[in-house]
Amino acid sequence: MKKAFVTKEMVEDIVKSYPTPFHIYDEKAIRENARKLKAAFSWNKGYKEYFAVKATPNPTILRILNEEGCGTDCSSYAELLMSEKVGIVGDEIMFSSNDTPAEEFVYARKLGATINLDDYTHVQFLKDTCGIPETISCRYNPGGTFSISTTIMDNPGDAKYGMTKEQLFKAYVELKEAGAKRFGLHSFLASNTVTNEYYPTLAKILFELAVELKEQTGVSLSFINLSGGIGIPYTPDKEPNDIMAIGEGVRQAFEEVLVPAGLGDVSIYTELGRFMLAPYGHLVTKAIHEKHTHKEYVGVDACAVNLMRPAMYGAYHHITVLGKENEPCDYKYDVTGSLCENNDKFAIDRMLPKIDKGDYLVIHDTGAHGFAMGYNYNGKLKSSELLLKEDGTVKMIRRAETVEDYFATLEGFWEV
Ligand SMILES: *Cc1c(COP(=O)(O)O)cnc(C)c1O
Repeated sequence: MKKAFVTKEMVEDIVKSYPTPFHIYDEKAIRENARKLKAAFSWNKGYKEYFAVKATPNPTILRILNEEGCGTDCSSYAELLMSEKVGIVGDEIMFSSNDTPAEEFVYARKLGATINLDDYTHVQFLKDTCGIPETISCRYNPGGTFSISTTIMDNPGDAKYGMTKEQLFKAYVELKEAGAKRFGLHSFLASNTVTNEYYPTLAKILFELAVELKEQTGVSLSFINLSGGIGIPYTPDKEPNDIMAIGEGVRQAFEEVLVPAGLGDVSIYTELGRFMLAPYGHLVTKAIHEKHTHKEYVGVDACAVNLMRPAMYGAYHHITVLGKENEPCDYKYDVTGSLCENNDKFAIDRMLPKIDKGDYLVIHDTGAHGFAMGYNYNGKLKSSELLLKEDGTVKMIRRAETVEDYFATLEGFWEV
């Protein structure tokens, strides 16, 4: 059973100040989860989480996570700028970009961020644009498919990211010759995994690679970045990941592979986005229409502009009808937004309690890759973002877009 962290009464109160639709984040749960992650990796002296800014690019969220010891993982100029504004700079930034414009490397370098190179050719590119820093990381792509026991988890061979093993080793040697002193290794092989085996399996691959690198080239890694990919159970039938078990699995691989090779000082880094925020955000929307044609439709005041994952990936997001949590789910609905796009549906053939106009719906697990993926199709505007604070009060942390924002880039629009 998925339970919303807001009630009907709370939402009726919130809408007096902030109309629907809005995204709302649960500060207390975000902090508790961040502390659990830290505890799970406390066995590793240098452990650090670099929150993937793209998941929830809001300064208030970055500040909360920073207070819990997290840095930022940035991959664009705007993300670097946001991190800097919040005061997260230097080695608290991991710059894990790809297809990177020169100006972005220059800016990352200026902030003292740790640069994570996506390609072998970027060694020369970096030399030419801003020189090789003392600390540098490289991204690995083993190709082929990535499996855990007999299950294929993802397809790195089709992914645009990272270097082959040969390129990787060559890159480290050249970086060392160019003056680099501290080296890191990064890899992201499967997304939204709901198994405690993903990180330990990935860790073992990277740890063995680190040992081989040391033997072949003499380059000793200082950190290994397991990146993102720990998922969350979007559907109510799935079990959430056990972060303590995940941390322990990585520790075992560490003891087994790195420690005997004299690499027991390696720091473990993570770059989680979804795991840090997704369950702690809701999209709250109001039912404004019901339509009975060949199917039963409920039209809400949010649309794919506010949450793209269902339209883009056919992703499941659980829905709670506030105030009807204990009523039987004996009505079958398509829950739709207003875009002139038939994939603008938050749910298809979903069994829900009877929905009446004016009901508030919570769309679950929208805290990461939710608001962030928003766009402006059909001239629809992005919603506000609210924070449910630890003391139970609600604070707006981003206002809703207005038509003035939407038209702001047009030359002379208002003069016509
Ligand atoms: C998207 C991304 C992440 C975060 O991924 P999640 O699945 O949200 O944990 C981390 N690192 C990089 C380089 C990414 O592109």
